Amino acid sequence: MNHLADRAASGTLQRWLTGPRVAGLPVPTELPPPALSFEFFPPRTDALEQQLWACVRRLEPLGPRFVSVTYGAGGSTQERTHATVARLVRETSLTPAAHLTCVGASRGEVDDVARRYWEAGVRHIVALRGDAPAGEGSYLPHPEGYAYAADLVAGLRRIGDFEISVAAYPETHPAASSPGADLDNLKRKIDAGATRAITQYFFDTEVFLRFLDRAHAAGITVPIVPGILPVSNFNQVRKFSAMCGTTVPGWMGRLFEGLDEDPETRRMVAAALAAEQVRLLQANGVDEFHFYTLNRADLTYAIAHILGVRPQPAALP
Ligand SMILES: Cc1cc2nc3c(=O)[nH]c(=O)nc-3n(C[C@H](O)[C@H](O)[C@H](O)COP(=O)(O)OP(=O)(O)OC[C@H]3O[C@@H](n4cnc5c(N)ncnc54)[C@H](O)[C@@H]3O)c2cc1C
Repeated sequence: MNHLADRAASGTLQRWLTGPRVAGLPVPTELPPPALSFEFFPPRTDALEQQLWACVRRLEPLGPRFVSVTYGAGGSTQERTHATVARLVRETSLTPAAHLTCVGASRGEVDDVARRYWEAGVRHIVALRGDAPAGEGSYLPHPEGYAYAADLVAGLRRIGDFEISVAAYPETHPAASSPGADLDNLKRKIDAGATRAITQYFFDTEVFLRFLDRAHAAGITVPIVPGILPVSNFNQVRKFSAMCGTTVPGWMGRLFEGLDEDPETRRMVAAALAAEQVRLLQANGVDEFHFYTLNRADLTYAIAHILGVRPQPAALP
């Protein structure tokens, strides 16, 4: 027994003496607070509507650069997305961005949606291809529609002087023929007029930083903003990640092990995990973050606070 304890102790001592030294991350006061944006989804029920607006009101004083509202698969939330974005324009100090996809609609119909946004005072579109609705197989362009996001970006440019953001994939879009082809596609979207890329969420910081290197080498100079997903429901995130091509590292599984019935501890772990991720990105010079809020403010608020973002006095109620 003593012999085993001695061996374990000498292993620890050995690692302590010869292992890598990890330098401390810079403290937020040494860095300017980053620019933030928050993503919401349009609510389906009255209860979800209340949850969304509580979330919006809690995050509003943090002064995000913009907030975006998603567009349901197959364009299923067209009216709800529009209503949510229009209310953000009318009732808040926030600058909304409307997500818009190519799925299931002709160019004329998509253009009409974009014109309605322009008329409602919305000047920022997140232009996406979208996916086929669940159970309908792989994506097929509408015969008279925009086939890919790059085509939609070009179409939007003809309609108004929108600010246009597009999607980027640090781990490559699942349907892309190769990482290089996917990067060429991102370049096409920028060349068509997009001014920012927002990434699919990821958990391995190194993957994002390598992607930045490759994008810069490919001549992409617009901001590439990391999409941050604070993980409150690990099992759900694991399933969703398998569909959208995000790797869930084994160590993450171990962090959430045994917490299925313990949401409170899960949320604390989630906050610690996301805080570590954003601080590491911030230490590597990333100064803009897009949060997938899932219409819940608490994790996003806490992580923004850790990044050095504070409520802006003018925006306080
Ligand atoms: C930040 C963000 C927000 C999102 N918001 C929404 C949302 O609100 N609603 C929603 O439904 N989905 C949303 N999505 C998901 C997105 O719609 C899917 O990931 C979709 O599969 C791809 O959309 P895209 O705009 O990246 O497509 P594209 O940029 O058009 O690319 C799609 C695929 O086609 C390939 N490709 C592109 N052009 C060509 C070509 N000419 N020939 C052959 N292949 C080509 C690309 O490499 C890629 O594999 C979002 C994703 C992100 C990252």
